[in-house]
Amino acid sequence: MSTKEYQSMNFDKERYKVYTWKHWSMLHWCINPGLVINELILGQRVPKVSLVDKTQDKPLVERSYVPCPHCHSLHDSRTWAAPNATLFKNWFGLYCPNCQQIIPCLMNVFTFLILAISFPLWGGFKKRLKAKWLAQQPARYENLNLEQVSQKFKSQNWVKTGLTWGAFMFVFMSVLYPYFTDQKITAVSLGVGVVIWTLGGLLFGYFMKAYLNKKPTTKTK
Ligand SMILES: [Zn+2]
Repeated sequence: MSTKEYQSMNFDKERYKVYTWKHWSMLHWCINPGLVINELILGQRVPKVSLVDKTQDKPLVERSYVPCPHCHSLHDSRTWAAPNATLFKNWFGLYCPNCQQIIPCLMNVFTFLILAISFPLWGGFKKRLKAKWLAQQPARYENLNLEQVSQKFKSQNWVKTGLTWGAFMFVFMSVLYPYFTDQKITAVSLGVGVVIWTLGGLLFGYFMKAYLNKKPTTKTK
């Protein structure tokens, strides 16, 4: 995974921490098979490069930026968020509302494999699908409300968010996946699934809360 597209952008390393695939949270995006659902079905994407301002005393979500290597804009990370209906449907990457080009994104290893294997099914339509998708993008970014994203995060019930995610994963991983791969679904496997995905969901909710509200560790006076 190369980030050579960004070479012409000189980030202020004193001010920004630069996140690439080498950071654990980005690497996690690339190797967790469950995230194929987010990426391939829902169209949630993670940019190849993100910047976090180390000097601002605000929650992480309010001091994270996504650089566009085409026009060199630094976009507020809240540009792509659920309250603005821009978190999902980004199948071809993150659309830059400034220059209308696509900001390069990471790709999950399993998404890559599925896309490679199924290429004969969709390869012929790719150009048309992408053109149609691109035509829909400008309207999606017309009425962005960044403050609304922060408000939503502050008032979000993370236990509920985590458990919803857990329930979703349970259906996929403990029911649909074994069903379609001809594995036995038993009372035990379902019970184990309930326990794993309840705990997994709560952990997920907790980490999301802690992560998104994270304040800088070193404050500059
Ligand atoms: Zn741009």
